[in-house]
Amino acid sequence: MIATVEPDTMSPRDSALAALPPTAAYLDGAWHQPTGARIHVHVNPATGQELGTWMLPTAADVDVAVASTARAQKVWWALTPSARRDALTRLGQQVQDHATVLASLVTLEMGMPYRASLTGVLAAAEWFRHYAGYADKIEGAVPPVVSPSAGLDYTRHAPYGVVAAIIPWNGPVMALALKVAPALAAGNGVVLKPSELAPFSSLHFATLLTSAGLPPGIVNVVPGGPDVGAALCADPRVAMISFTGGGAAGRKVSEAAAARHVPVVMELGGKSASIIFADADVRRASRLAAILGVAQNSGQGCFLPTRLLVERSIYDDVVAGVVAATKTFRLGDPFDPDTTMGPVVDAASRSRIAGVIDGAAQRGDGKIVAGGSQDPDGVAEGRFVEATVFADVDPASPLGQDEVFGPVLSIIAFDDEREAIAIANGTRFGLAGYVWTRDLGRAHRVAEALDAGYVSINSMAALPPGAPFGGWKDSGHGVEGGRAGLVEYLRVKNVHVQW
Ligand code: NAD
Repeated sequence: MIATVEPDTMSPRDSALAALPPTAAYLDGAWHQPTGARIHVHVNPATGQELGTWMLPTAADVDVAVASTARAQKVWWALTPSARRDALTRLGQQVQDHATVLASLVTLEMGMPYRASLTGVLAAAEWFRHYAGYADKIEGAVPPVVSPSAGLDYTRHAPYGVVAAIIPWNGPVMALALKVAPALAAGNGVVLKPSELAPFSSLHFATLLTSAGLPPGIVNVVPGGPDVGAALCADPRVAMISFTGGGAAGRKVSEAAAARHVPVVMELGGKSASIIFADADVRRASRLAAILGVAQNSGQGCFLPTRLLVERSIYDDVVAGVVAATKTFRLGDPFDPDTTMGPVVDAASRSRIAGVIDGAAQRGDGKIVAGGSQDPDGVAEGRFVEATVFADVDPASPLGQDEVFGPVLSIIAFDDEREAIAIANGTRFGLAGYVWTRDLGRAHRVAEALDAGYVSINSMAALPPGAPFGGWKDSGHGVEGGRAGLVEYLRVKNVHVQW
């Protein structure tokens, strides 16, 4: 069994260390020893030190996981809708009650500053409570028919059965809640595959399900790499796949799903533009541009505004404001409350991001005005990258086009609204857009013109559970959040009655 954790009496770091899982799979309501020989040595990204060694699940464990979820889903679907509602409400409460441990595990496994981890976990608890409310409100319709006097049609909604939820490492508890909450509310069971880079918080989440009264196996957790994800996507009992990750892996998942005609939700990457017009609150916009575009989660967020488009008349002031803001960031121990930027997830990410910075500088994609590829001072042991800002970025260059997934901001000047919209829409992505202006008409006009599934005006909203979030273009398809996010996990049946 997992060690007893006293979240209120231990430091967050000690809570996380005490809650490290005994094995790297949780199936059928219990810890499961993976059968294979794939060894994972987890390295704490903040210190570079090994946290321990775990055997990762393999295709054989995926087989056990899917069989268990298929059994549990039948039990779950046989409950009354109000029983599912109450169980999901209790699950939300469990997530809330264990928020400090879950957040500590997130910080330990992938380096997000603890306060941000806790905010994410509390938001995840809210997603479960929100979707609990849908569980007893799934209703059909009576559609119009050709001859109403002769009969009627009615629709019923049913779960798919076993859903595969594949998530990335960059905010794992929130990422799992976005999928597991609506999938369970719709009556499905879930096999959850977290990244091997952040397996611990998802495994701990699984321990909360039975205490909330959900059937054992209704969510089985098999952390692992692409091989585990591929085995899951190929399993004929998996009837729907919800994927969050990068475009390359997403394409493979889509191909696997297409081979079996299985529906997919794809939440992919982004290169979102934040457009600051001259009439905006320039100080606030510049500071938030630096925080959201560079510091937040060390730039490892899909919908962060990583391209900053600035009207030319205020360009120099904004660049200076962003650079000044980056100087106030404190890199370091993500458990330290004064830390604003933690490490990036691992050594491979750090080298990849350093390579992106060097490549962009050598090609002249833009001009470095803050940071760079050197290891920052004072944090030599961890996987840290300095907050890096490029000004005068060519929008068509690789730096202006490609997702970096690290603390690297690109600043680009524009002359008018048309040009700003053209640059904002001029990438293959369409995840998010941000508009900063005091002109109400322009705010709505630009929001309408942006090719993006999410637009924020004069702020950055958290992901509220009642609002749909999803990408356009290469940022994916399908949504998470709200009723639209529930419907992704339901299939519809029309019944015609003749009288
Ligand atoms: P990734 O694509 O490498 O991996 C994502 C998940 O897919 C992991 O669990 C991974 O093991 C699994 N996977 C990889 N190959 C697979 C395959 N062939 N079959 C099945 N599963 C496979 O991404 P990452 O590095 O973990 O996360 C970063 C990416 O995720 C970024 O591109 C980021 O923008 C994106 N992301 C998108 C959103 C969103 O909501 N749109 C949210 C967070 C992250």
